[in-house]
Amino acid sequence: MKQTILVVEDNPVNTELVKDILFELGHSVVHSETGVDAMQLARTHQPALILMDIRLPRLSGIDVTKFIKAQDDLKHIPIIALTASAMKGDEEKILQGGCDDNIPKPIQVIEFINLISSYLDSEARGFCRLN
Ligand code: MN
Repeated sequence: MKQTILVVEDNPVNTELVKDILFELGHSVVHSETGVDAMQLARTHQPALILMDIRLPRLSGIDVTKFIKAQDDLKHIPIIALTASAMKGDEEKILQGGCDDNIPKPIQVIEFINLISSYLDSEARGFCRLN
């Protein structure tokens, strides 16, 4: 089933990788380079999942997550943090901030697909096994 995923990520290489994977799985992507308009985009597009970079200009991914999780109409949307390996010690802070899960960067494609699939009702769940 085609689902919409909101990707909040300021790094163009990571954005392209994530988009490619999500398109390959048949999903559609809404992208923002900053967290500032993420809440409005979430409200407009009602994504099934949000992928949230933590290091963002102006507003950190943790702060954006806190804002989204404080909204009654948005808090049900799972948010998976995309975190640089240098932030490994910050995993607890990220989960405390309201992120449902965490994907370390650099992104490992199979692990990434398995994790996001567990948050989506997805016919693509067998994708890894088929390939
Ligand atoms: Mn970043």
